[in-house]
Amino acid sequence: MSSTNRMKAAVIGAGTMGNGIAHVFAQNGFEATLIDVSTEILEKARATIEKNLGRQVKKGTIDESTQKATLERLVTSTELAAAAGADIVVEAVPEDEKLKAETFRKLDEVAGAAAILASNTSSIAITRLAAHTRRPERVIGMHFMNPVPLMQLVEVVRGLATSDETADAVVRLARDLGKTPVLVNDSPGFVSNRVLMPMINEAVYCLHEGVATAEAIDEVMKLGMNHPIGPLALADLIGLDTCLFILEVLHNDLGEDKYRPCPLLRKHVDAGWLGRKAGRGFYSYG
Ligand code: NAD
Repeated sequence: MSSTNRMKAAVIGAGTMGNGIAHVFAQNGFEATLIDVSTEILEKARATIEKNLGRQVKKGTIDESTQKATLERLVTSTELAAAAGADIVVEAVPEDEKLKAETFRKLDEVAGAAAILASNTSSIAITRLAAHTRRPERVIGMHFMNPVPLMQLVEVVRGLATSDETADAVVRLARDLGKTPVLVNDSPGFVSNRVLMPMINEAVYCLHEGVATAEAIDEVMKLGMNHPIGPLALADLIGLDTCLFILEVLHNDLGEDKYRPCPLLRKHVDAGWLGRKAGRGFYSYG
């Protein structure tokens, strides 16, 4: 790891997940570099992190000096080369295998030889992403949950070539971030989305077939199954494009019809109704 006392992290992609991941690294003492394609997106991400830190101060879970120090440890860049000094890089670009493969190829060139390259992918094979690098033993899945500052789980995904040393380091790292790591093997959707996405897809089918309204479907699952949030509201929180990408990976890689994305989900994505981040999904957001 780095020669300075402070560990360095780089996060690639400053969207829904990337800003939360950078937030958690910076809050836990890492120098965090958040990288995206435009300064506008990075400014928006920094504003989101500031807002979320403000909420934590209000709730009393952190104090103002932690808020200030967290922001001081966070830098942003539009250049992938800014990941050069990082001990750990977490990739959080959209769930598109071509884009992720290209990102891993480039990261392998810019990152230090000892750096661990992690992906926050929800479903894409870690083994395949690792094959685009010359360090497959130091490539791993580090699957944070949304919203990252609040959610406890990190699903740590071992690719076929991931070394024991890398898996151990990432399990320790997740604990250092105040999270609970759960180690799983590489398989489409891992455990989390292999189980979650068919439920969300089935809820969309219920809406599509007129079985009930969106509100009624979510209410049944909240009150009847004790879920804190209904599946359609959760899909809006995740992003409907991300849900569609994940279901396509499950459908293609596992080859079973039960994972076929509901046509209504596809229509929403075609319309740009991507959920909370777009202001409209299965629900409207002001
Ligand atoms: P998002 O669309 O909100 O954000 C992706 C960001 O990546 C955007 O800001 C985009 O500008 C940026 N980006 C695109 N190409 C880039 C490049 N070449 N270099 C740098 N940045 C680039 O997506 P998200 O919801 O944050 O998802 C990111 C990853 O996390 C996906 O793999 C997704 O499956 C996974 N994930 C998402 C959730 C969720 O609830 N949304 C939960 C767990 C995991």
